[in-house]
Amino acid sequence: MTAFFRLLARNRLALAGLIVMTVVVILALLTPLLPLADPDVTDTGNRFQPPFSEGALLGTDHLGRDLLSRLMWGTRLSLAVGFAAAIAAATIGAAIGIIAGFYGGRTDNIIMRGVDMLMAFPYILLALAIVAALGPGLLNALIAVAAVNVPFFARNIRGITVGIAHKEFVDAARLAGLSNARIILTEILPNVVPVIVIAMSTTIGWMILETAGLSFLGLGSQPPQADLGSMLGEARSALITNPHTSIVPGVMILIIVMSINLLGDGIRDALDPRLKSGALSRPMAATNVDRKETPPAATGRGLLEVQALETQFHVKNRVYKAVGGVDLHVEPGECLGIIGESGSGKSVTALSVMGLVASPPGVITGGAVRYEGEDLVGAPYRKLRSMRGKNVAYIFQDPLATLHPLYKVGDQLIEAIRSHRPIGKDEGRKTAIELLKSVRIPNPEKRISDYPHELSGGMRQRVGIAMALANEPDIIIADEPTTALDVTVQAQILSLLDDLRRSRGLAIVFITHDFGVVAQLCDRVAVMYAGRIIEEGTTAEVLENPMHPYTARLMACVPELGEGKRRLEAIRGLPPVVDKLPPGCAFADRCERVQDVCRQGEIPLEGEEGRAVRCLFPVTEPPPADAKPAQSQEAAE
Ligand code: SF4
Repeated sequence: MTAFFRLLARNRLALAGLIVMTVVVILALLTPLLPLADPDVTDTGNRFQPPFSEGALLGTDHLGRDLLSRLMWGTRLSLAVGFAAAIAAATIGAAIGIIAGFYGGRTDNIIMRGVDMLMAFPYILLALAIVAALGPGLLNALIAVAAVNVPFFARNIRGITVGIAHKEFVDAARLAGLSNARIILTEILPNVVPVIVIAMSTTIGWMILETAGLSFLGLGSQPPQADLGSMLGEARSALITNPHTSIVPGVMILIIVMSINLLGDGIRDALDPRLKSGALSRPMAATNVDRKETPPAATGRGLLEVQALETQFHVKNRVYKAVGGVDLHVEPGECLGIIGESGSGKSVTALSVMGLVASPPGVITGGAVRYEGEDLVGAPYRKLRSMRGKNVAYIFQDPLATLHPLYKVGDQLIEAIRSHRPIGKDEGRKTAIELLKSVRIPNPEKRISDYPHELSGGMRQRVGIAMALANEPDIIIADEPTTALDVTVQAQILSLLDDLRRSRGLAIVFITHDFGVVAQLCDRVAVMYAGRIIEEGTTAEVLENPMHPYTARLMACVPELGEGKRRLEAIRGLPPVVDKLPPGCAFADRCERVQDVCRQGEIPLEGEEGRAVRCLFPVTEPPPADAKPAQSQEAAE
């Protein structure tokens, strides 16, 4: 709850809305206790007194009634009716939506066609028809406003429920023998409540307006009872001669609706789980840079050189050191593999190259990324944008998530080509077909008109590769491009990437957690752990003779054909959380060769050119005889 309010407070407009709305609600609640005149007592001798008259701060209306008092009582009534209508519409609409979405089939069809019929009527006409049938009065206006908003909630919640009803955790609840009613209450409802709250917060202002509209037409509150709409209606005839009688309730409606809408937007943002870990603001076009130290000088190694790169995530008062000083380089035509467990910093390193780490919360805090010697960290966005896709292109893990579902793959390819080349659509189409051919998509002239969902996983990934090749980049960063594919398709994609690399002289940075893939494709490999490179070398050297205990354990987890039966040992423990990295070696708590000295101070990445390890006691050497066996950190504590 505290986190929710902290997120809400970060949206200044929402905070302003919350403050204004709180003041209005408190005043409305305190109205009976305030020393106000009776709102219904007429005094025709004092009619149309202007604001700041004696005894009438906001003046009087056409019957001499005190406008301040009527405003306070009217606001109280309008808020009560608006909130009641919103709660009623949300409860009934959500119940209908959940039932339709959960049961589906005929139940869904019958319910939703009824909802469609209600939505086919202009809502204000429908509200007028309901009040006409029930008779004028505030309660009937409330019923009418709630009724016309029920379909809105039903449609929204039904859509969410359909998505949730087929999730695995609902299947698991069914398998556990839970009844439908129990599944709805314990599995579905908690997941749709945030959506209901968001929908309510964004429509409540609208419902207050609708109620005021009905009262304005004389169908809501009846004289002498005041609400904001009826006050406006009564002031209609004096709009020109005594405008204050209209302005007073009009301004209050404006204040209430504006503050509720601003607050509603803030609540929606704060409840959106995707925004909880980041910030309410839109991610910036390039990663924020806050380097405290001068970047290292260029060494001239490779087409792309990453030097002492540090990328952090600043979430609230925590600092997650996702990349803690990474050095890499890749030569033209070379394939460099980056391997490590999930969370080791591989992807963040790759995204940092072109400033693609989302900011906030990501910040590049140190190091340099040099393309042909030029440092790109902190480069102007225009420069980065001109290089993205043209010099350095990316292939991501899940092509279904990276391809736009509503556009044909051809249109997306043509867009990628034309974003860097001033060519016409026809030429773009020809180039797109050539690209699809080059990634071995059969019948590309027809496939170019397919939507992503019409292609298989392997085909979609080929389209992703074609898109990366669209502007003939020098470097492709492939972030686990085969993880979501089955083994045979994976082999085809790897073979395709290898052929493209050799035929086009492409440099590839291949991120994976699969040593088999590294062996098949990569010339060199860098092993990452807790945001650092812990071992690097040629693929043959690292695979045949791993030096770091972590690399050796990773290799021991890989099954080998024809090696007979052996136990595949998992690596005990978990990687450290990168906002609480231990002193010394980050692998110490999981390492069987750990010594006390491993936990003291920085362990450097040492070795000859191209073959290095960050370990004091590599597996290729025995631990020194005088080294003291260490307790685990937990045991020591
Ligand atoms: S430095 Fe020590 S704890 Fe770290 S991997 Fe090497 S032997 Fe293990």
